[in-house]
Amino acid sequence: MITTSARAVFSPEGSFQLTTIERRDLKPHDVLIEIKYAGICHSDIHTARGDWGPVNYPLVPGHEIAGIVTQVGSEVTKYAVGDRVGVGCMVDSCRECVNCQRGEEQYCLSGNTGTYAAIDRYGQYTQGGYSTHIVVTEDFVVRIPDGMELDVAAPLLCAGITTYSPLRHWGAAPGKKIAVVGFGGLGHMAVKLAHAMGAEVTVLSQSLKKKEDGLRLGADHYYATSDPETFKKLAGSFDLIINTVSAKIDINAYLSLLALDGTLVNVGAPAEPLPVQVFSLIPQRRSFAGSMIGGIRETQEMLDFCAEHNIAPEIEVIAAKQIDEAWERVLASDVRYRFVIDIRTMENE
Ligand SMILES: [Zn+2]
Ligand SMILES: [Zn+2]
Repeated sequence: MITTSARAVFSPEGSFQLTTIERRDLKPHDVLIEIKYAGICHSDIHTARGDWGPVNYPLVPGHEIAGIVTQVGSEVTKYAVGDRVGVGCMVDSCRECVNCQRGEEQYCLSGNTGTYAAIDRYGQYTQGGYSTHIVVTEDFVVRIPDGMELDVAAPLLCAGITTYSPLRHWGAAPGKKIAVVGFGGLGHMAVKLAHAMGAEVTVLSQSLKKKEDGLRLGADHYYATSDPETFKKLAGSFDLIINTVSAKIDINAYLSLLALDGTLVNVGAPAEPLPVQVFSLIPQRRSFAGSMIGGIRETQEMLDFCAEHNIAPEIEVIAAKQIDEAWERVLASDVRYRFVIDIRTMENE
């Protein structure tokens, strides 16, 4: 076993403690990654606090991982020591089912193996990126393009792919009108990516507080959803709406903003049901859909797209001892726009 330093929570309400965890010894297709940066995702908080069901403790969250390969298994062909690599929300899947065969491992019929809080094929409980090292099979590792810094690469592994995949699937392109609901970690990536794909981008945010940022980062329009006029003015206008909000919203009001054949895709995952009036869908042949991260091949495509178009998330780098504070700020929506932990500070008190 490989002993590695980590920051873990030991109960749903607990704060982070410095600890050590064990990583498996390298199997023939495994790579050992020295983690340099790990992004903080809202899902980390939901999972650690048991909002999405019970989990084991201690729990080390983190599924936006960027680092360097420091050791490879005997049969590894894709990576070599020194390569700059990333790991996102999953570290394995069955690799045999129809969805895995299509490269949509996130939708594996046996369920993908989460980067943390899951049981892997060796029966071990997975632990995430708030740690100094991780062992992952090479098939679930992506290459960080030359010229892309590791700190900004980290959030692309969840926030980036979660928004890139539905934009591609539903055809973001010149001539398409796309709205992004919520302007946080996911929302600001959706705006940058949709803009780079050539679409006309509108932000729908609760207030106009971040309007300047929105326009600077690629939005063409920015509206406050607290203003009822917004819904009148924009009725029937969008081909695609990406909803990044994880709280309950009046989904029918947002569906009314879709044009003929428009689709509203939820990537935010509120705990409560969102009641849909079927008459919000029928008259304009609208769809209400969901989307979850993206496959490994598409994650690599997203990283290459970001490198080519010079797209990086807006980040605030923090020390490991500041994770608790950062989580409180994420919950208070006080982050512009993603916290990234500098893993070199792991052991600093
Ligand atoms: Zn995430
Ligand atoms: Zn599968």
